[in-house]
Amino acid sequence: MTLNIYNTLTRRREPFETLEEGRVRMYVCGPTVYADAHIGHAMSAIVFDMIRRYLEFAGYEVTYVTNFTDVDDKIIIRAQETGQDPFEMAQYFTDKYLTHLSDLNIKPADTYPRVTSEITNIIRVIEDLGEADYAYSVDGSVYFRVDRDDDYGKLSRRRQEDAIAGTRVAGEEGKENEADFALWKGAKQGEPSWESPWGPGRPGWHIECSVMCLHHLGEMIDIHGGGNDLIFPHHENEIAQSESLTGKPFARYWVHNGMLQLSGEKMSKSIGNLVTIDSFLRRYSADALRVLIFSGHYRKPVSYSDESIEAAVRSTARLRGGLRPPTGNVAVGEEASSLREVTESARGGFCQAMDDDFNTSAALSHLFELVRAINSARAAGISGPFFQAAQDTLRELAGVLGLSLTEPGGPEGDVLAAKPFIDLLVSVRTAMREQKQWAMADMVRDGLAAHSVQLEDTPNGTTWRIEDAR
Ligand SMILES: [Zn+2]
Ligand SMILES: [Zn+2]
Repeated sequence: MTLNIYNTLTRRREPFETLEEGRVRMYVCGPTVYADAHIGHAMSAIVFDMIRRYLEFAGYEVTYVTNFTDVDDKIIIRAQETGQDPFEMAQYFTDKYLTHLSDLNIKPADTYPRVTSEITNIIRVIEDLGEADYAYSVDGSVYFRVDRDDDYGKLSRRRQEDAIAGTRVAGEEGKENEADFALWKGAKQGEPSWESPWGPGRPGWHIECSVMCLHHLGEMIDIHGGGNDLIFPHHENEIAQSESLTGKPFARYWVHNGMLQLSGEKMSKSIGNLVTIDSFLRRYSADALRVLIFSGHYRKPVSYSDESIEAAVRSTARLRGGLRPPTGNVAVGEEASSLREVTESARGGFCQAMDDDFNTSAALSHLFELVRAINSARAAGISGPFFQAAQDTLRELAGVLGLSLTEPGGPEGDVLAAKPFIDLLVSVRTAMREQKQWAMADMVRDGLAAHSVQLEDTPNGTTWRIEDAR
């Protein structure tokens, strides 16, 4: 079995080969810290956490670096709007995001570089690009000369004319070419700035990731990751900067996750259709979010809705059910050996699925298969080493997906505990309605509503949901 990964650069699935045997250098673009992170950010972090965990499970030593963009137009604008100090605001949201990462059971990175700590390195790289004629300065700003880079556009496969339409920025008059992008932005009145050979200013967005990769991982890395909304211009420009500087291929595999969608559109602050990580975790567990994301494929969009998350909550509970203790004391026999067989085939199937460009939904289906086998073995009174081994395997493979399988507290746990009783009340009410006992049926409905359980009568029967507390 070999691991195959889809590489955006070649648009193909390729066998995974590292630059250095047994070692993976991995860089993932992190957030711009100017607002509460939403579960779309969480999806990217969770996807690359899963990839990292699987690589480690497969025996690689992984060096994982992810950055914080802590100075940027968005931060400056938000700070001006709210009258805050931009650095304090960025620090606040950085700390908060780090807490979220741990709440979401995401393994800590080896390094979390921040733009504001890399300014000296960034200036040096821009100077080097200028010396090699890849960069030029105009009125205190510095731009990358796209025309000088022959293979510009190879990642996004955009023609330069299309690229121009995507990059026209006000206040960048004097560029040689509309497609050129800022490496250094001359300071405007009232903006945070650093001294540089071109006067006071701050770095452009794209240069920071090139420099952080170079500084923390070296000239060439194995995996560069991020959301597929970053392919152009961000990652295209990273490639242009890094490869023009070093003359070497920058990242071996470009890996991009799909977007989390709410009501059919990408979750984003500008559209306003977002669920913050805070509000998500008040209601649901990190495991449920992982199961939702891993039920699809990481490169495809994931649709977030009350229905899809409730389904994920139930699936998560089903996985957890596999860890309930045995009830009997039969250690051997037909049931025990068939449990052993399923344990082995589930492990094999799980790895095969993950080797196929991290096919997590197929991997999950092998975990469900194992849970079913454990449950029927338990019902048959099986305990002992095979039962133990099956549960250990479930725990281990779930752990590769970052699932803790611990009992959720809070509303998710409450809903799961209450579900059989709500179902019972709903069917009692249905029976009352059939006997035209309307007053009593309404009493049940109102009583449930008082506990935030909303009923809906449809031609196919009555459904219920927990009233949205967002
Ligand atoms: Zn980046
Ligand atoms: Zn190039």
